[in-house]
Amino acid sequence: MTTKKLYYKDQYNRSFTANVVKVSKDEKERDYVVLDQTHFYPTGGGQPHDTGTLQDVRVYDVEEVDGEIRHFIEKPLIVHNELVGKIDWNRRFDHMQQHAGQHILSAILEDDHGYPTVSFHLGKTICSIDIKAHDLSDEEARQVEEKANQLILENHPIETKWVTDEELSNFTLRKAVSVTDNIRLVIIPTIDYNGCGGTHPQSTGEISSIKVLHLEKQKKNIRVYFVCGNRVLNQLHEKHHVIQGLTSQLSAPQEKLVEATEQVLQQNKNQEKRIDQLKTQLLKSEAKTLIDEAKWVHNRKIVKAIFQNRSMKEMQQLAKLIPMKTSQVVVLLVSENDTKLQLVCSRSDDVVISMNKLVKQVLPVIDGKGGGNDSVAQGGGDRSLSAEQFMEELGNAVNKLK
Ligand SMILES: [Zn+2]
Repeated sequence: MTTKKLYYKDQYNRSFTANVVKVSKDEKERDYVVLDQTHFYPTGGGQPHDTGTLQDVRVYDVEEVDGEIRHFIEKPLIVHNELVGKIDWNRRFDHMQQHAGQHILSAILEDDHGYPTVSFHLGKTICSIDIKAHDLSDEEARQVEEKANQLILENHPIETKWVTDEELSNFTLRKAVSVTDNIRLVIIPTIDYNGCGGTHPQSTGEISSIKVLHLEKQKKNIRVYFVCGNRVLNQLHEKHHVIQGLTSQLSAPQEKLVEATEQVLQQNKNQEKRIDQLKTQLLKSEAKTLIDEAKWVHNRKIVKAIFQNRSMKEMQQLAKLIPMKTSQVVVLLVSENDTKLQLVCSRSDDVVISMNKLVKQVLPVIDGKGGGNDSVAQGGGDRSLSAEQFMEELGNAVNKLK
């Protein structure tokens, strides 16, 4: 049987009595109750369902299926016939405000700017309208918001009218309606004429205020995020909290926050640059120390160094720096970390042996991989040897390649 929709008679009523018509479970084994009449609005037309209680048992979802309105309840009900239903008023009134706000925004976007609404989403904290537009400037969004708040202040009535298919031709609707019987129109005279099954307050003043939050470019549309009513205050509260945190962290008043943040980011960049310069200086000084400690073998200076957890990048920089500062040099660098041995070898131009050959010759000892060219080569393998033992292998290999 069709449930009588009391929320269309009086959208402000929060409690009611009704008779139980059916008690059942859906395909997901969720308990539900069907009543002869209800104030619980079921999900539909972009508006989420009401919540509340039936005989003090929580109603967590409401759906309309083939004319019957199913109240999904947390546990089975014990009553047999008449019961008391109460809806969560804050949630319902919030939905009414958001929904009516959407009507106003859509009307202004289309009538003043030529952007028809494609869809509407009433989210938990933020709502959005998708409009058919390639672009919406911040200035336009500001104008829309200003006019919307003006219409709220003017407190226009929001009327509903049930019409037949024939009577429909007397109205110019924003969008063609999908039903042909029992058509419900929501009318804000001179502003908006729309087929709509949602709940709305009886005048625009109850929306209280509208704030457009931000715009997002979709493939063919622009998504306009907004909030109405209490949600405007919630947004203000949240943003205020963030700004207070930032003003204290950055020691700057609100109007200087952007400037202060830019300064911090710039300082960060400068410091990174300075750190890079200092690192290079350190590497140069390290290169000099290593050259001073190098031992002559035959007619070559052999630079040997073993590191713990040294990055490949730094070893490569050192291997490049040393031959630039001295001649007749072969550089052998090994680093050991938790699981691997890594090496970088280089030489000055006046040494004839190939570093690629050298590395390829020793890598099998640690089951490693790598390579390079005649002047510089690198690689890595497992820690089957200690770094010292591996360095000895490297030194022996260099001697053999003389
Ligand atoms: Zn509506």
